[in-house]
Amino acid sequence: MKKIFILALLTLCMVANAQIKRPKLVVGVVVDQMRWDYLYYYYNEYGNDGLKRLLDEGYSCQNTMIPYIPTVTAIGHSSIYTGSVPAMTGILGNDFFIKGKAVYCCQDDDVKSVGSDSKEGQMSPHRLLASTIGDELKIATNFKSKVIGVALKDRAAILPAGHSADAAYWWDTSAGHFVSSTFYMKELPKWVTDFNKQNSTKPGFDIKTSDQGVTMTFKMAEAALENERLGQGSTTDMLAVSVSSTDAIGHAYSTRGKENHDVYLQLDKDIAQFMKVLDEKVGKGNYLLFLSADHGGSHNPNFMRSHRLPAGGFEGWNVAKSVNDTLQKQFKTTARLILGENSLRIFLDHESIENAGLKVDEVKAAAKKEFEKYDNVAFVVDYDNVAAQSIPQPIRERIINGYSRERGGDLLLITNPGWIDASNATNYKGTTHGLWNPDDSHIPLIFMGWNINHGETSKPTSMTDIAPTICSMLHIQMPNACVGNSIF
Ligand SMILES: [Zn+2]
Repeated sequence: MKKIFILALLTLCMVANAQIKRPKLVVGVVVDQMRWDYLYYYYNEYGNDGLKRLLDEGYSCQNTMIPYIPTVTAIGHSSIYTGSVPAMTGILGNDFFIKGKAVYCCQDDDVKSVGSDSKEGQMSPHRLLASTIGDELKIATNFKSKVIGVALKDRAAILPAGHSADAAYWWDTSAGHFVSSTFYMKELPKWVTDFNKQNSTKPGFDIKTSDQGVTMTFKMAEAALENERLGQGSTTDMLAVSVSSTDAIGHAYSTRGKENHDVYLQLDKDIAQFMKVLDEKVGKGNYLLFLSADHGGSHNPNFMRSHRLPAGGFEGWNVAKSVNDTLQKQFKTTARLILGENSLRIFLDHESIENAGLKVDEVKAAAKKEFEKYDNVAFVVDYDNVAAQSIPQPIRERIINGYSRERGGDLLLITNPGWIDASNATNYKGTTHGLWNPDDSHIPLIFMGWNINHGETSKPTSMTDIAPTICSMLHIQMPNACVGNSIF
């Protein structure tokens, strides 16, 4: 009897020991347009508990690059959480064309706003073709895990959260508070309505281009953490937070100056406070956090030129229009031949070309020749024939990763270094991103917390390695379009 009892006890212990070990909570923090070097450019001014704490306690992958073009927000968020590239995720940009029809990545006319009456809530992940970390976590735990996305930008809340998320919340500027859509819920939970009562702005106020936007985002993330009791249950939960104001401020004021400085110092303070709350609510060492960016940002061309560095605004939209006009004369037609330009990607108007009795391939070849005549165009890439063109291999791979036959466009312009797709006016003060170069594609990546030892590596790592690393640590399957590799 005694023997049996001891044996039973031993078996129980073994069962207890054999339980899978996972953190209570996974937290993703993606900072929109955060260049890798902002970790160090403002380092001396950061406090000890924010970004410095991440660097001091966490593990930093110093050479994390984005493996596709164009480097823009919707693609960055979807690629981080799917471990994949636009060619497979279907998210080819913020705005792109599907079979000639202009679409916004998250726009979904089949759903309604929840929390406002505007169109800003009519959003869902329906164009994302791949699963995310959160989706795989849900599958692995029989959908017991809670997964929530929070950001000011809809795409930055929706795409990270994935398809099976419990909720995504984003900011409706016209309403001045957080909303969601009927994709997730019929009405906002009471805690969100209460939060909105205490944390709204005047309708129409542009919180996205303001430091306040950073604080508002983390306040909402903390409210979600507390009210949804994330990391308090028996299964691992996930909270995906994206900071959007850094991007809007970067676009308006560029990478230097007071505005950018102030928003990163605000971010530092807000991250410190957020991690303090995580320590209190979930417990130090109980959560696994990563910080990264959806893309970097180039320096303002006038700033560069004022220091004798080669740079300029290429104004791709103007160039595309001129080329369209030239081609119309050449082909003796008034039909629109170029549908649009986005991040230096050229979309031909296939339907209009065919209706005019012309051949797409002939128009494309002529367009390629015309674009090649412009100064500061290093390569004009034919998406159908990338592999055969003499383009440096790392750039060629990024082009292929960013292309999809149905959603991806026809030609891509690769400009000379420093030449960005922005205004060339001498009074232009802002900046943009979207290119293959390190300014736009070198991003921070730091893991901290559960099972993470302090350290850093300068080995090349990729944005698409984030999802498989998290999944491997959790012992769950990686997302179904994942092309990256686990770092640890
Ligand atoms: Zn941007």
